[in-house]
Amino acid sequence: MSDDRQPETRAIRGQLPHTQYREHSSPLFLTSSFTFPSARAMADTFAGQQEGIIYSRYNNPSVDELVAKACAMEGMAAGFATASGMGAVFASLAALVQQGDHIVATRAVFGSTHQVLTQILPKWGVSHTYVDSDDPGSWAAAVRPETKLFVTETPSNPGLQLVDLELAGQFCRQHRLQFVVDNCFATPYLQRPGDYGADLVTHSATKWMDGQGRVLGGLLLGTPEVMEQVVFFCRHTGPAMSPFNAWVISKSLETLHVRMDAHCRSALALAEWLQKQPGVEAVHYPFLPSHPQYALARRQMKAGGGIVTFELAGGTAGAHQLLDEAELCTRSSNLGDTRTILTHPATTTHSKLSVAERAAVGISDGLVRMSVGLEAVEDIQRDLLRGLTINNRK
Ligand SMILES: *Cc1c(COP(=O)(O)O)cnc(C)c1O
Repeated sequence: MSDDRQPETRAIRGQLPHTQYREHSSPLFLTSSFTFPSARAMADTFAGQQEGIIYSRYNNPSVDELVAKACAMEGMAAGFATASGMGAVFASLAALVQQGDHIVATRAVFGSTHQVLTQILPKWGVSHTYVDSDDPGSWAAAVRPETKLFVTETPSNPGLQLVDLELAGQFCRQHRLQFVVDNCFATPYLQRPGDYGADLVTHSATKWMDGQGRVLGGLLLGTPEVMEQVVFFCRHTGPAMSPFNAWVISKSLETLHVRMDAHCRSALALAEWLQKQPGVEAVHYPFLPSHPQYALARRQMKAGGGIVTFELAGGTAGAHQLLDEAELCTRSSNLGDTRTILTHPATTTHSKLSVAERAAVGISDGLVRMSVGLEAVEDIQRDLLRGLTINNRK
């Protein structure tokens, strides 16, 4: 698609062609299949000799609109939308490997991604080696003749560790690896891994892309060569996104840039404020100068994102206290909502990891993950202060 308009414009104007009703906002195509004017047209469409939409497991206009917008924003040539972020992550791996292959992955990956790498892919003879996100010099030692993929997530959930995308791109070219990036935390508005040579970018569209905590969704966006394999895999294994969810998320992308600007502004303000609160031992945010990869964050991200994590002196008890005292902020495992959400990873999303595994990805007992919403910053501060004050009285 040759289009020199900015990604923000394309997220708004990249609509389906209008129907005969001349609607302004795109309609929802809630249909499982499509019809043909003749048996000949049907045969030609199935043979790929004629353009046409066949069945919503393959594609659907509402889903196609979302995929086209996401490709434009991410700067990728082709895409496929899945029912959840994990549907996209699983397809990104399973479609590209075969028995005997090996994957190099940065250790700080999403909890379910870790389960796929350690519990599911080994059943089919696909192994992996973890490397440290922040130590690119150590990556080459993990590469074997049968290594096919380099799998990364930046910033990571919830440790907010970064991977240097420029160095990762060079590493993959040098070792002829396909480069797969989970870009969920940054969104294409803050960072575009494809600009550094990523072959495939995945998203949990459930998070910032929907942005309002309503629907699950995932996206696979990549080069034509990689997407040919991924689309084949997805069409025949069935993780397709519902047209309804695609319609919701496509509408949401129209406002992604304004929402992300606001989430990032509030997140930075809260991170700076938390640093001054007694009982808070450490605050992690990519755009705080105290973040060990601050310079890298400034280089490869437009802003720091909407997630702030902080460590409380009181460990698990202190973190639970903070969550229990919250009246405005909600206790939930989701993120990327208009509502500020507090999570205690050690006893929820990452409770299945051993203490040592948690420590290796920066999850201490006192760590709280905060997904900063769009409420007024002063109201969020007042809400957090209650739990922090009780912590300090102890
Ligand atoms: C939530 C998340 C996923 C999984 O997405 P779902 O939509 O919940 O399946 C994958 N990667 C990251 C970084 C996430 O935060």
